[in-house]
Amino acid sequence: MKETELNKIYEECKNCTACPLHQSRTNVVFGKGNPDAKILFIGEAPGQHEDEMGLPFVGASGKLLDKYLDAVDLSLDDVYIANILKCRPPNNRDPKEDEEQACIGFLRQQLEIIRPKIIVCLGRIAAYKIIKPDFKITQDHGKWFKKSDYLMTAVYHPSALLRDPRKRDDMMADFIAIKDKLAELLK
Ligand code: SF4
Repeated sequence: MKETELNKIYEECKNCTACPLHQSRTNVVFGKGNPDAKILFIGEAPGQHEDEMGLPFVGASGKLLDKYLDAVDLSLDDVYIANILKCRPPNNRDPKEDEEQACIGFLRQQLEIIRPKIIVCLGRIAAYKIIKPDFKITQDHGKWFKKSDYLMTAVYHPSALLRDPRKRDDMMADFIAIKDKLAELLK
């Protein structure tokens, strides 16, 4: 049921021309994972590998994310992963405000269908768009925020860990806390 609803939006998304990013995309990158997931991960935008494959988090960052999920006994069956932008910005530049405004409706619809217990923003750009505009990833990662029906947190973007492996202990601690929080919510 949820899968059918998501597929309907995916079809719309594939034909979307609401912002200039449609001109340079190879594929829209809609999302992956379990439509019944209790945890929704949100990143900022697809990169090169994601654009080529039409799936989020499939490059080196995605492999690292998989390792952290695995380390706390979670898999793609337990989570859903999507981005704010469904098309890749050229040269992986940061998303522009008008692109985010044009695209955010798809994410809102995904959220309405999936209705997760927890939202986890991947990196500072997703965190300041989804959680709060003054979000500081180095200070605020791992903290919990309640917004409408959802409990939210943010962790470092996996690509930040590839650049700075010293952040990996913090990332592990945040993933353990996310798993614990989910167990608490499902009690
Ligand atoms: Fe449409 Fe979003 Fe792609 Fe822009 S980024 S063309 S709004 S799907």
